[in-house]
Amino acid sequence: MIKSILITGSNRGLGLGLVKQLLSIPNPPDKIIATCRNLENAKELREIANKHKNVHILLLDVTDFNSYDDFKRKLENILQDDGLNVLFNNAGTYPRVTKLELLNSSHLVNAFVTNTVAPIMLTKTLVPLLKTAAQKNSDKPIGSERAAIINMSSILASISENSSEGLYPYKCSKAALNMATKTLSIELKEDNIMAICLHPGWVKTDMGGPNARLDIEPSVKGIVDLILSVNSEHNGGFYQYDGKQLPW
Ligand code: NDP
Repeated sequence: MIKSILITGSNRGLGLGLVKQLLSIPNPPDKIIATCRNLENAKELREIANKHKNVHILLLDVTDFNSYDDFKRKLENILQDDGLNVLFNNAGTYPRVTKLELLNSSHLVNAFVTNTVAPIMLTKTLVPLLKTAAQKNSDKPIGSERAAIINMSSILASISENSSEGLYPYKCSKAALNMATKTLSIELKEDNIMAICLHPGWVKTDMGGPNARLDIEPSVKGIVDLILSVNSEHNGGFYQYDGKQLPW
C-alpha cells in the first residue's frame, strides 16, 4: 500500500483521472496530495476532496519556482513526519507548433520550463521528503511503498520511434525529461528512491484531443497498476501505461 502520493496538475485530464483511480483501488493511499494552479478551475477536484478526507488540494504553478519552499512547508504539514512515497510529475504543456518555420524561441523556452525544468526542480525540492519515506519504510522493497518519482513523458519523446516532423517544443522538452529521469534513477539509487518515466498512451484529454485512441480510465488504471507494481528492475526505465517498456 502506498501511504502518500503527490500528483501535479490534478484538476483535469490524466491528473484528475489518477486521483479518481487511486480512490477506487482496494487500499487507497492515506494521503493523496492533488495540486492545481487555480481553485476556480478545479470544481470536480474540490468536490472529490470534500467527499474524501485522504485527498488534500495544494495550489502549485509548477513554473513558480519561488513558491516551492512554501509549497514544501505546506506539504510537510500534511505528511507530518512520514515523508512522501510517490512524487508524480504529471503537469505538462503541449505547444501546438508544428513546422520549423512557425517556431519561435518562446515556444521552446515555455515548454522546457514546464515540462523539464519544473519536474527536475520540484524533485530537487522534495527529495528530502522522499528520502524520509524511503528510510521510514526500510522494511519494504524498492518501489512505491518506499519512494518513487514518476515523470509523465510521451512516446513523442522517443528518439528511436520518431518518424514525424515538427512539435519541437514538446518532443525536445519531454526527451530532456527522459534524460533527467534516468539520471535521477542513478543519483538517488543509494537513497533507495527509484525514478521512471511513463507514456500514458494517446488519451482523450484537452491535450490528447477527441481523436485520441484511449479514454482516460484505461490509461490511469494501467498507470496505477504499474505504480503499485514497480520494483528495482524498473528503475531508470521508460514505460507505457500498460507496463510495456519503451525504447529511448
Ligand atoms: P491536459 O492538458 O488535459 O492537462 C494538463 C494539466 O497540467 C492541467 O491540470 C494543467 O493545469 C496542468 N498544468 C499545465 N501547466 C501547468 C503549470 N505551469 N503549473 C501547474 N499545472 C500545470 O493534459 P493531459 O492530462 O493529457 O496530460 C497530462 C500529462 O500527460 C502531461 O505531462 C502530458 O504531456 C502527458 N501526456 C499526455 C498524452 C495524451 O494523449 N493526453 C500523451 C502523452 C503524454 P491547468 O488546468 O491550470 O492548465
